[in-house]
Amino acid sequence: MYRDGARKSIWQEETKKFTSTADCNKIYDVAIIGGGITGVSTALQLQQSGKKCIIIEASNIGFGTTVGTTAHLNDFFDTTFPQAISDFGLENAKLFAEVGQEAISMIANNIHQFTIDCDFERKPAYLFALDEKQEKELKDIVAGAAEVGHVMNFTHEIPFPVPFVNAVIIPDQAQFHPVKYIKALCEAFLNLGGEIKEDCVCESHDEQDEVVILNTSQGEIKAKNAVYATHIPPGINVLNFINAPYRSYALAFSLKNNDYPQALGYDLTDPYHYYRTQEIDGKMLLIAGGEDHKTGHEENTGECFSRLENYVRDHFDVDTVFYSWSSQYYEPVDGFPYIGKLPGSNGKIFTATGFRGNGMIFGTLSSQILSDLIIKGENKYADIFNPSRIKPVAGFTDFVKETAVVAFDFIKDKLFAEKIRSLAEVKEGEAKVVKYEGESYALYKEANGKIHLVKSTCPHAKCEVRWNCAELSWDCPCHGSRFNVNGKMLTGPTVKDLQRIESESES
Ligand SMILES: Cc1cc2nc3c(=O)[nH]c(=O)nc-3n(C[C@H](O)[C@H](O)[C@H](O)COP(=O)(O)OP(=O)(O)OC[C@H]3O[C@@H](n4cnc5c(N)ncnc54)[C@H](O)[C@@H]3O)c2cc1C
Repeated sequence: MYRDGARKSIWQEETKKFTSTADCNKIYDVAIIGGGITGVSTALQLQQSGKKCIIIEASNIGFGTTVGTTAHLNDFFDTTFPQAISDFGLENAKLFAEVGQEAISMIANNIHQFTIDCDFERKPAYLFALDEKQEKELKDIVAGAAEVGHVMNFTHEIPFPVPFVNAVIIPDQAQFHPVKYIKALCEAFLNLGGEIKEDCVCESHDEQDEVVILNTSQGEIKAKNAVYATHIPPGINVLNFINAPYRSYALAFSLKNNDYPQALGYDLTDPYHYYRTQEIDGKMLLIAGGEDHKTGHEENTGECFSRLENYVRDHFDVDTVFYSWSSQYYEPVDGFPYIGKLPGSNGKIFTATGFRGNGMIFGTLSSQILSDLIIKGENKYADIFNPSRIKPVAGFTDFVKETAVVAFDFIKDKLFAEKIRSLAEVKEGEAKVVKYEGESYALYKEANGKIHLVKSTCPHAKCEVRWNCAELSWDCPCHGSRFNVNGKMLTGPTVKDLQRIESESES
C-alpha cells in the first residue's frame, strides 16, 4: 500500500520506499514527523542550513494527501482575498497575497538547484462563474484581488467546454508531479546527510528543557526541535478542534476529441470543480476534482465519484476514466493556515496545518517559515499564521454546530448499531457497525466472504467510525482519523490502530 486509501491515485506509481536507519542514541537537531510535501520540504531546507535532521514517517514518503492531491500551484486560494481583507485586515491580506508566488518560486528554485524532472509547467488559471450568483462572487473576488495587488483579468473565453457567464484569467500559475518532486527532494536530503525512518509512527512526545523525546513505534528518537508535518498534529491538541477534516474526489480521464485545456480551471460552485491536465506514461489525461464533504458525513462515498463523473461527462468528451481517488484536507476555522509553534509547546515543537485545498503552496511555504523560526526565531509570516492566534470569526458558531451534529450522529449510530444483532446481516462487499454481545464492532465482508472485524471506537477521542465505501476505510466523523479494514491507522490525528478482533473468520 502506498497511499492512505484503496483506490490508486494518478501519482501513486512513482512512490518508492526509502530505507535508512535512525540512530536512537543520537540527538538530532530537528526531527520532522510526516513525509508529505510539508515534512520533506522542511527537512531539506533545514538540512541545507546545516541542521542534522531525520524524517519520521508512519508509512512511506508521500503516503498521505500528497499522493492524493491534484497539484495545482496557484497563488489565489480557497480563502478568497475579500475574505482575507474582511477577517484579517488589508495589510495582512496583502501579505497573504504574496505567499503563492513565493512558494511557486521556492519550488522552481528547488527544481533548478537539484535538477528535478517533475513535469513542472507554468500555466494560466481561469476562474469562472456558472450563474449570476457566482458572477457576483467573482466580481467581489476580482475587486478584493485588486486591493491586495493581485492580477485577475476578465475574459470572454475559457479553454473548458463548460457554459459560463463570466470569467477571469490569472497569469503565472503552475502545475507539477508532486511525487516525482518530493522523491527528488528526499534524495537531495539523503545526499546532504539527512535520515529517513519509514514505517515509524510517532505516538507521543516529551518536551524537556534541552531535548524533545519522541516515543515512536520503533523506540525513542531524540531531537533539539521537532516538527509535526503530519497534516494535522497527532493526539489531542486545540488544533484538532479548530480544523475540520474534509474529503475531496478526483478523476483522471482521456478525451475522445483530444482537446485538452492547457490551463488550470476552477468554477465557483460550492463545493467547486477544479481541472488540470497531466501526462502519465506518454498519455495525456484531464484531471477533474470536486464533490467535497466533511469526512465521515457522506452516507455513500461511492456516489460522490458517480456524481463527479456524471458532471464531467455532461461537459467533456470523456473517453476512459483511468484513475479515481479521494483524499483528505483540513479547513481552519478562520480561513488561514496554522504554521508555527505547536500550541502548548514550550517552544521546541512546531507544526503546520489547516491548508484547505492549497497545501502544495502552504506546505512549501511552511518549510521557509518553520526553518526561520527554528534557526532565527522569526519570519515575516509568523504572526498571521501563528497557530496560537485567537481569531473569533463569523463562521465559528457554524463550526461549533458541526461538532454538535457529530455528537448527535454519534448517538444515532449507537441506536442504529443496537438494531443490528447479527453479523449475518452483512452481505459480501458490505460493511456495517454492528452490536454483538454488548460491544460495537466495525465489520467488513470481502467479496469472497472473508470478514474483517475491529472495534468501532476511534482511539483518538472515542467517536464511532463510519464506513467509506469508496476507499474501503473506516473514517472518524469527529476529527478525521482513518483506518483500513484491519484497523491499521491510515490518517491522523490518531496514533493508534482500531482494536482488531483476532477471531477473523470466513463465512
Ligand atoms: C483531492 C485533493 C486535491 C488537492 N489539490 C490541491 C492542489 O491542487 N493544490 C494544492 O496546493 N493543494 C491541494 N490539496 C491540498 C494538498 O494536497 C495538501 O494540503 C498537502 O498534500 C498536505 O501535505 P502535508 O505534507 O502537510 O500532509 P500529508 O501529505 O498528508 O503528509 C503527512 C504525512 O504524515 C504521516 N503521519 C501522520 N501521522 C503520523 C505520525 N503520528 N507519525 C509519523 N508519521 C505520521 C502520514 O503518513 C503522511 O505521510 C488537495 C487536497 C485534496 C484532498
